[in-house]
Amino acid sequence: MSQIIKAPAGDNNGMVDMFARTISYLRLSLTDRCNLKCMYCVSEDEQEEGCLSKLKHEELLSYEELLRVVRVAVEMGITKLRLTGGEPLVRNKVMRFIEQLADVDNLDDIRITTNGVLLEKYAERLYAAGVNKINISLDTLKPERFARITGVDCFDRVWRGIEKARQVGFSPVKLNMVVMRGINDDELPDFARMSRETEMQIRFIEFMPIGASSRWDKSTYMTTDEIKERLSVAGELIPLSSGRADGPASMFRLGEDARGKLGFISPISHHFCDRCNRLRLTSEGMLRSCLLHDRETDLRSVLRQGGADIDEKIRATLLAAIRDKPKGHQMEERLKEQGSDCHGRMSRIGG
Ligand code: SAM
Repeated sequence: MSQIIKAPAGDNNGMVDMFARTISYLRLSLTDRCNLKCMYCVSEDEQEEGCLSKLKHEELLSYEELLRVVRVAVEMGITKLRLTGGEPLVRNKVMRFIEQLADVDNLDDIRITTNGVLLEKYAERLYAAGVNKINISLDTLKPERFARITGVDCFDRVWRGIEKARQVGFSPVKLNMVVMRGINDDELPDFARMSRETEMQIRFIEFMPIGASSRWDKSTYMTTDEIKERLSVAGELIPLSSGRADGPASMFRLGEDARGKLGFISPISHHFCDRCNRLRLTSEGMLRSCLLHDRETDLRSVLRQGGADIDEKIRATLLAAIRDKPKGHQMEERLKEQGSDCHGRMSRIGG
């Protein structure tokens, strides 16, 4: 039976949850819109027809509302912020918003996850604004396969975006590859080798069974152990200690002389729930304390009630979401019993 450890009352502004985890990391989904239609994010019909259901503008949190939440969250102890989506860079006037975020007192760690399509255009401004880390999603190095996985033929554009990010000073640029058996697993050694020749960090992510439209199934899913085994042809994996910037990734180097690193993110097979410090805000203002649990707390209604004590109410709602954070997602067990019952879409939750 699991033992419930009560959070010490008043500790760290209440940012310690029921299982003694300190919540210090907020992920904001800026929009559910995306300029790609990746096969794990949308259904086959949506990929073919491009008829994605989208939130209406008024359903999204406004930049003003987002800034208000961030200011309160940072006062409470959030130290790290990640912008994601959908594709964060497609939201109108996003750069002005990011520049305002960078002015929030005591917020020095702003990161972004992007598909790279608009990076050639925005990398320089992002870096100048103070975004300090960038993760770029890239599941293949083959242009034709890229078009099949993402529904859009723009590999070269993304590659130019990656190059631009490196040029303007992001270091290391992290590339995230979702590994799917039979779809891109034959490219594992090629991805790993990039970490030998460049300072980039290549991160292999286990394919998660999330979203009603996910094409996840047990045959496409590969565990980190299996991924590592497949990399043995590329060289020796030398374990490294993980730093704060590595998040949940376990870190390796491919041979002694590699310039970059490899990271393995294993949300299913070696889940990191006991160390999870995250809270997510979906694009329509729902607080979600676990990516793989559909339980959410409505912050948008609170924001739109208004009133002089609005910041107090935001604080109380953030605390309620933290109190509600489950001990773990238990996805392995849930899969054995009934298959995934996690229906939230990555694009609105923010991957
Ligand atoms: N548009 C941005 C991008 O592509 O990086 C941010 C949003 S995207 C949903 C964030 C990340 O979630 C991407 O790296 C994507 O590969 C990952 N992702 C989406 N669905 C996933 C799944 N079922 N399993 C594992 N990773 C997934």
